[in-house]
Amino acid sequence: MTKLSIRALNLQGKKVFLRVDFNVPLESGKVADDTRIRATLPTLELARRQGARLVLASHLGRPKGKRKPEMSLRPAAERLGQLLKARVEFAEDCIGAEAEKKSQALKDGDVLLLENLRFHPEEEKNDAGFSRALARHGRLYVNDAFGSAHRAHASTVGVTKVLEKAAAGLLMEKELNYLGKAIQNPEHPYVAVLGGAKVADKIELIQNLLKLVDTLILGGGMAYSFLRAQGIRVGKSLVEEDKLELARQLLEEAASRQVNVRLPEDHLVAEKIDPGAAPRTVGVNEIPDELMGLDIGPQSRKSFCQALQGAKTIVWNGPMGVFECEPFAEGTMVLARAIADSGATSIVGGGDSIAALYKAGVAEQISHISTGGGASLEFLGGRKLPGVEALTDK
Ligand code: AMP
Repeated sequence: MTKLSIRALNLQGKKVFLRVDFNVPLESGKVADDTRIRATLPTLELARRQGARLVLASHLGRPKGKRKPEMSLRPAAERLGQLLKARVEFAEDCIGAEAEKKSQALKDGDVLLLENLRFHPEEEKNDAGFSRALARHGRLYVNDAFGSAHRAHASTVGVTKVLEKAAAGLLMEKELNYLGKAIQNPEHPYVAVLGGAKVADKIELIQNLLKLVDTLILGGGMAYSFLRAQGIRVGKSLVEEDKLELARQLLEEAASRQVNVRLPEDHLVAEKIDPGAAPRTVGVNEIPDELMGLDIGPQSRKSFCQALQGAKTIVWNGPMGVFECEPFAEGTMVLARAIADSGATSIVGGGDSIAALYKAGVAEQISHISTGGGASLEFLGGRKLPGVEALTDK
């Protein structure tokens, strides 16, 4: 990683403005899933051990610049206190006199969480005055919110211009190390496994990965646009008509770069997505007009797993079928297990693929599960993320 890490900072007695991702689901005023809070604990524990005075800031939901009580971060402060087994102060606003008084009062190792940044419209506008107001809470800046790094907001970019140094937290550092290696100096053979619903969402990702990988496995709904683009009958399967030309170009590009592209060789088809469906297996060009392909078939599973053998790097994003619905889950489960057992450095991103790893019980065997969502897609797609660029170079 070329960016400064929190590990290189002297934090003793310093006020640190720490951007975290506490964009957690709430239910009846409580945190319903604390995964994101837990993910940042190593950074918080390191900083507290070193005697930093921590001022945490995050967004939650989309309040669109208005104060919305149901999007308050107060429940996150409560949950964090339980996890840290320490008192976590809470400020009713992220800027202003009351919040500043609380951040001034912090002692070494203390933690303060500020109210939702997005209650102020200036946050998403990366407003300079708002950034200065946030910067009053700290001397140093640490960003552990990789999932927000693709946005140039006041708390991810503006504030870094005001504070002394801007470093990556441990979670951010891990994302940058794994994802950075996957696009800068990956070990070969390198296999990308892409699936999910739409080609449209993953165009840049495919384009960038085509420059890097040896093998590209395409499954899920998006595979049907690639099959259709080759003149193959796909019945009522998901096809993006306006992306067929692009799909053709991507396949040509893959051929010219000698990337081995694997598309489904057979399918599980049914009339509709239905937990009671009894899907039929059909060959690649045999989807009846009135049916849709909802999972890869047994031959494809075998061939995709073979293509993973010997891989040193695997990137996976997007399920192989409608895995949320039991009759169409097998393709995704088989691939999840094969990636976990591959021995390769494995990087998995995207909410559905991550859910599939847990469903298959193999999440522990994955080298890196990227929590970044849109940020991971953009980073692997070759884009510079403003929140990463804003960090101090080593
Ligand atoms: P994405 O967010 O683009 O990664 O897409 C994930 C969604 O793609 C999941 O909800 C899957 O159910 C869906 N999906 C996967 N395969 C298919 C398919 N063959 N037809 C329709 N939807 C699919």
